Amino acid sequence: MTRTIIENAHVVTVDERGTEYPDGHVVVADGRIVSVGPGRADQALRTDAEVVDGRGCLVTPGLINTHHHLYQWLTRGYAQDSILFDWLTALYPLWSRIDADLTGTAAAGAMAVLARSGCTTVGDHHYVFPRGGGDIVGSIVDAASTVGVRLHATRGSMDLGASQGGLPPDSAVETTVAALAASQEAVERYHDPSPDAMVRIAIAPCSPFSVTADLLREAGVLARSLDVRLHTHASETVEEDAYCAEHFGRTPTQYLEDLGWLGDDVWMAHGVHLDEPAIARYAATGTGVAHCPSSNARLAAGIAPVRALLDAGVPVGLGVDGAASNESGQLGVEIREAVLMARLRTGSESMSARDALRIATMGGARVLGRHHEIGSLEPGKLADIAVWQVDRVEHAGILDPVAALGLGALPPLKRLYVGGRTVVSDATLVTADETRLARAVAAASVSLAERL
Ligand code: ZN
Repeated sequence: MTRTIIENAHVVTVDERGTEYPDGHVVVADGRIVSVGPGRADQALRTDAEVVDGRGCLVTPGLINTHHHLYQWLTRGYAQDSILFDWLTALYPLWSRIDADLTGTAAAGAMAVLARSGCTTVGDHHYVFPRGGGDIVGSIVDAASTVGVRLHATRGSMDLGASQGGLPPDSAVETTVAALAASQEAVERYHDPSPDAMVRIAIAPCSPFSVTADLLREAGVLARSLDVRLHTHASETVEEDAYCAEHFGRTPTQYLEDLGWLGDDVWMAHGVHLDEPAIARYAATGTGVAHCPSSNARLAAGIAPVRALLDAGVPVGLGVDGAASNESGQLGVEIREAVLMARLRTGSESMSARDALRIATMGGARVLGRHHEIGSLEPGKLADIAVWQVDRVEHAGILDPVAALGLGALPPLKRLYVGGRTVVSDATLVTADETRLARAVAAASVSLAERL
């Protein structure tokens, strides 16, 4: 049995009661948490254990990213001053030249940065599948395995090209039939329903303005027949509201509900423009929201009503969103952004650092349907753990280590564990060579740009 003990640290469990141990320990054995508590670990657990001295550290559950487009790691810094629809229109031609090789390189780079910012579970939404592009979902699965993070990949799709009234060019979309067949194939090939799964697949048509009603409806039926989750973008911008009013005579929420798209097996990216009736429908159905504050600010989309969502009981997780609208790609940073944005929208008491940490951990676990396995530090759960160093000059003197993480600079990681395996040690990725990843990303980015 391999056993690891982290002790002398401030442990924030994010359990139901918000238990914290200012001088506590966590013990991991065979990939699971076996003990969490005050003081040092039991003598009986110490034999043959690796002991990590957590002095000056904050220990939290690993962070859970609920929305990303990993391939966009190659297309950062484009359309820097655009709102969503103009930004999409500028980037579709580039994205429609992506393939499995380029996506794998992008995904590895993006996931390395996610891991270095405390993320142990990566949600991805890939929806551009050019003809002849190879096994793109497979390339993302491989990259996650290389970096060592847990993956919730989604097989996305677009079938509503510009000639039919959609936003993407016809060259960037698939047929409805092909998208459904490929979604089923991705689930059959890569989805692992087991409780300690490193790879899960969900089905994720892209958005109301890039997907037909037929694809949305049939994707819902397919996902439920395969017992996997559903994901899409919803209520991101006022332009999307206007599009849905013009084309469907309904709000995005009414449109999606009519197509079978509200439920506790569904999570939506953004939810910026949800009104009161929509929030009530999300709450009543258990529909989750991936809150992406930096991306929403980058594209001037607005600030999501997170306080109202939480008060209504809607599951809310955190997401970086694609790197083309969040060049940072660091999930840890989004905790602070969530605090700041909520306060700008609804006042200083609408979001504490601890609230935002809960969204980033248990909130994300609920959104992905994995709250019994990950998201908190409790015996029996998978050992996905972040050990943040909060005693350096950036944080020294901040008496509350949770404030150091949630209000201060992003702290470096002393350790990051995924299923008990060390992925980051002393702020360095140990599973892959970061210098080589950086070189590969730079080359792939140029190579993609040259395809235009
Ligand atoms: Zn997105």
